[in-house]
Amino acid sequence: MPAPHADFKRLKQRIPIDHVLSRYGVRLRSVGPHTLYGACPLPTHTSRQSRLSFSVNRSLNVWSCHSASCIAARGGCIGGHVIDLVAIMERCSLRAAGLRLQDWFSVGVSHSAPARSPAMASSAAEPNRPLGFALQRIDTRHPYLAQRGISPATAQRFGVGLYRGDGFLAGRCVIPIRDEKSQLVAYAGRAVNGEEPKYRFPAGFRKSQVLFNLARAMQTCGRNVIVVEGFFDAMKVHQAGHPAVVALMGASFSQRQSELLVSHFASITLMLDGDETGHRAAEVIAELLKPKASVRKVELPNRAQPDQLSSAEINILVGQANRTF
Ligand SMILES: [Zn+2]
Repeated sequence: MPAPHADFKRLKQRIPIDHVLSRYGVRLRSVGPHTLYGACPLPTHTSRQSRLSFSVNRSLNVWSCHSASCIAARGGCIGGHVIDLVAIMERCSLRAAGLRLQDWFSVGVSHSAPARSPAMASSAAEPNRPLGFALQRIDTRHPYLAQRGISPATAQRFGVGLYRGDGFLAGRCVIPIRDEKSQLVAYAGRAVNGEEPKYRFPAGFRKSQVLFNLARAMQTCGRNVIVVEGFFDAMKVHQAGHPAVVALMGASFSQRQSELLVSHFASITLMLDGDETGHRAAEVIAELLKPKASVRKVELPNRAQPDQLSSAEINILVGQANRTF
């Protein structure tokens, strides 16, 4: 059997770099018609001085980070294209990155227009394997949780807290991620002191194969589920009295996530962020789900995210969504 082939030129031309970044949950600010900038999401980025060093040129479809230590950690290269980006993010070879992009964006499979955001990842990707261990020394009473409006009871229920052990998640707020069978498959590590990247995931973890909090949401045995972008959005919505909530872990949506949703819920309420990425993602996801489920949308106020809202505000918005249709 011939080895799978990645058409690098085609991938570089056809996959919009901002779509790749939104797969990783990276948010950038627009400064001009083609330029976006923001905090560097790369695992090579360790400097805390150069916090807005990452920029993207949409018309050239390239990225760069100007932090000296980040450049040095990347072997002296200032930036690159979509394949370099994925290779650095996933700590894999260029060829493996190319194949992954091809898979995520279905390039080479269809000859239609470039994939539209959010990307539909292939359901053929391998599932995440159960971890086989659980982290100890998680402080569920760390002040960071209270700062984010997470109550001690919610932190306990989700098992989130500051990790006081060693390794790449040391000193971060860890969030256990379970699959639909409630098997622990990964921990996400959220920086608590402004460190970049904001989130760390174990190498090889596939966000596209899992919905955060799905097993717990399924236990409610309800028809409806609320879909949010982030971990903290899900915890806040849960805390407001809606235990049937799952998070996409970003604004991208995969075929596998779609299957998981429609096989367990007949009615889906989308509550994505109130920014341009969130609005655009909600439009696309609603269209994809409509043939298979009843879909409602919660319109968040401009630029707001569910994790910034109080329980009362969340309840009002969820109530309005239910009345809309
Ligand atoms: Zn950087």
